[in-house]
Amino acid sequence: MRFETLAVHAGGEPDRETGAVSPPIHLATTFQHGPAGERRAGYEYLREGNPTQDRLETMLAALEYGQAALAFASGMAAMAAPLESLPRGAHVLIPDDCYTGLRVLCAEFLPEKGVTATSVDMTDLAAVRAAITPATAMIWAETPSNPQLKIADIAGLADIAHAHGALLACDNTFATPVLQQPLRLGADIVMHSTTKYFGGHSDVLGGALAFARRDDFFERVAHRRHVTGAIISPFNAWLILRGARSLPARMAWHCRSARALADFLAVHPAVEVVHYPGLASHAGHAIAARQMSDFGGMLSFRVRGGREAALRVAGKLQLILNATSLGGCESLIEHRASVEGKNPVSPENLLRFSVGLENVEDLIADLAQALG
Ligand SMILES: *Cc1c(COP(=O)(O)O)cnc(C)c1O
Repeated sequence: MRFETLAVHAGGEPDRETGAVSPPIHLATTFQHGPAGERRAGYEYLREGNPTQDRLETMLAALEYGQAALAFASGMAAMAAPLESLPRGAHVLIPDDCYTGLRVLCAEFLPEKGVTATSVDMTDLAAVRAAITPATAMIWAETPSNPQLKIADIAGLADIAHAHGALLACDNTFATPVLQQPLRLGADIVMHSTTKYFGGHSDVLGGALAFARRDDFFERVAHRRHVTGAIISPFNAWLILRGARSLPARMAWHCRSARALADFLAVHPAVEVVHYPGLASHAGHAIAARQMSDFGGMLSFRVRGGREAALRVAGKLQLILNATSLGGCESLIEHRASVEGKNPVSPENLLRFSVGLENVEDLIADLAQALG
């Protein structure tokens, strides 16, 4: 089956009892078993798993071409699980431009587990090689990265990781498996905030991991999820499964509009630079063209005139909403430096733009009036 067909059907077999084409939502927290705990259909207690979650995980493993997948209560729960499953003394490399939660997790929480992290420019393989230590157990990539859309060479990173006996994990939230399949490029683990494009409607929180192999490390992470309880709710599992059905169709639209907006912004006199890997001028364009089938619905741009000018543009928008998050139907813009907490790292004149599914001419008109 080709990808779009998988997205529509994986984990979606009609309900065996009723023939219902849309899967039932199993809300039961507990499943009847025999007197000595004999399971009837493999289920016991919701924190461990349920049929709705199984469908979601079947779909996630299929779309990422993995042997197994685990669904979590949020993207952050999915991110924390493999990092916290590393042995005490382990070292991790993380990107210098990345989701803020990863930076905070590595600075505040992993050290308590005896795990340390170093941030490195993942677009520079020589720099990555140089940052590896004998204790490096994992390279954590994010490509395209948040919010500067930096592109890392996944196959190149996999080679470096594997030469050192380390794992490569890749946050694939921005690209989605529609555009990029890291396991097929050599990564060992893929992470998603399914809150974003998978959910697709800004109304569900979830996270996921897909694994190249159903191995000991997979079992370790699954056991951690079971015991620490960062499990997805059945309703959220159902919503994310539902979102996957239209994911390829939505991504095509997101990509087409983002490309048009990037072209519009790139020549606008009030814009200093546009970060969009689809632009030939983007530093990672060639690698993105090789490892992605299209360039995504996320872009960021820097406004001439610094912080105040950027805030003025964001404040004048009428259609495009000022809000965090991404991947929904509605276009969202955000001044990242304002929401990154105590130590913002994003440039002060940078606005991040999640291009939604509106008519692109309406989006261009809104930006045009805001940029003046
Ligand atoms: C949103 C996001 C996360 C965190 O996911 P939550 O579902 O909000 O916990 C991680 N990585 C990236 C790239 C994200 O955009």
